[in-house]
Amino acid sequence: MKVEQQIPCPVCVTMIPFDASQLLLGVNFECPNCHVSIGLAADSKPIVEKAVKKLDDIKNTK
Ligand SMILES: [Zn+2]
Repeated sequence: MKVEQQIPCPVCVTMIPFDASQLLLGVNFECPNCHVSIGLAADSKPIVEKAVKKLDDIKNTK
């Protein structure tokens, strides 16, 4: 099952769609608005972890 998630861009707060499983594989995603790269870099990792945790919460409630 593919679950697409969105995280707010750290620069412009545009919601960036990403696939959590791909992100964990090291795939970077680009903000469609300001083209900042979102990936498992040290500075964006907390955002990613938060999003993945949220995904787990969704799984748990279903
Ligand atoms: Zn942006």
